[in-house]
Amino acid sequence: HNHIDHATLEKVVEAIASGDTHAHIPEYEALSTYRKAGGYVALQGLRENGDWKAVQETVLASGLRGLGGAGFPSGKKWGFVRMNEGPRYLAVNGDEGEPGTFKDRYYLERTPHLFLEGMLVAAWAVEAETCYIYMRDEYPAVLEILRREIRALEDAGLIDQGYVELRRGAGAYICGEESAMIESIEGKRGEPRHRPPFVAQVGIFNRPTLVHNVETLYWVAKIVRDGPEILSSVEKNGRQGLRSYSVSGRVNNPGVHLLPAGSTILDVIDAAGGMIEGHSLKAYQPGGPSSGILPAHLNDIPLDFDTLQPHGSFIGSAAVVVLSDQDSAREAALNMLRFFEDESCGQCTPCRVGCEKAVKLMQAETWDTPLLEELSTAMVDASICGLGQAAPNPIRMTIKHFPEEI
Ligand code: SF4
Repeated sequence: HNHIDHATLEKVVEAIASGDTHAHIPEYEALSTYRKAGGYVALQGLRENGDWKAVQETVLASGLRGLGGAGFPSGKKWGFVRMNEGPRYLAVNGDEGEPGTFKDRYYLERTPHLFLEGMLVAAWAVEAETCYIYMRDEYPAVLEILRREIRALEDAGLIDQGYVELRRGAGAYICGEESAMIESIEGKRGEPRHRPPFVAQVGIFNRPTLVHNVETLYWVAKIVRDGPEILSSVEKNGRQGLRSYSVSGRVNNPGVHLLPAGSTILDVIDAAGGMIEGHSLKAYQPGGPSSGILPAHLNDIPLDFDTLQPHGSFIGSAAVVVLSDQDSAREAALNMLRFFEDESCGQCTPCRVGCEKAVKLMQAETWDTPLLEELSTAMVDASICGLGQAAPNPIRMTIKHFPEEI
């Protein structure tokens, strides 16, 4: 601190306040290019003379489900929100805090207008008064791109001034939980709400609110433009649609890989350039730490919604982390629980105290498995939100699949 003089410090503060954080802005498709390729024609057509129910049917026919992790059928959500009297709001969950997930960033840094048009189509469908975009603050380039492009939409007359509000997250994982995000948008501490009532009925400022993930809206724009078949016609292993897997770990080409939703871990590793030389597949996290760790021999399961349930797991946001024979499942599980311990909002005891106790128990040389099982049951049964309910997944899956390590 002694090395920064007052004038420099003031400049830094001013730069941050003005949003000039010197983020490297990647090449992306700006409004003029997007419009030249037919962008916003669909939205304008709908606004002039569209039938929201017909669009809802198209979205339902595509099979699109919430890609933030919950997998709720997107078209159905529109119906639930519309059912409630206005004014209504739309909130975009762009917090993308699930470790290993970076697909929303990938799309926003390339084609932000597919997301923005999808958002405006959904907003039109539910007659939203205002759209709030809750964006992860650790994505400075995305924030700058959105600032520029929202302004461009206002200047082009495609939206009214202030119709889309960009809100910055503050690095709290729990604010990716939709009701905590809504609390945060309202300016309160980000703590999940009890349900019911659901946010479709009582959301932002107690008004019916449609909440969508960034990628979900990206697909809404594509479906409206190109038809539901872009998803429904893709079939693999009995599953329909496409999945943007964020792949990291011991693979040659980590990154976002768009594959059929019926892909297995072996397909995902293939798409990511195979295992790094000298490493062989030992285990994988299919969809963020909440989804736990699966062993290598479970390598023929389509990584899609619902298919992982029999194994006590789920695909969530499709954040695949590949672990090799040089990694420890036990250490990975402990790391996940440390993360949950840090990120628990502290509102309810089973999660706040449970995560802390679990970390302590998992540090012992030999795990007290009956006690960890009992603790896990209490956390699953009595936590308010998904964080505390899913936090025991890595514990239980390590006990089941990697007993030799504990
Ligand atoms: Fe907060 Fe955890 Fe309770 Fe969720 S389960 S409300 S994160 S304390």
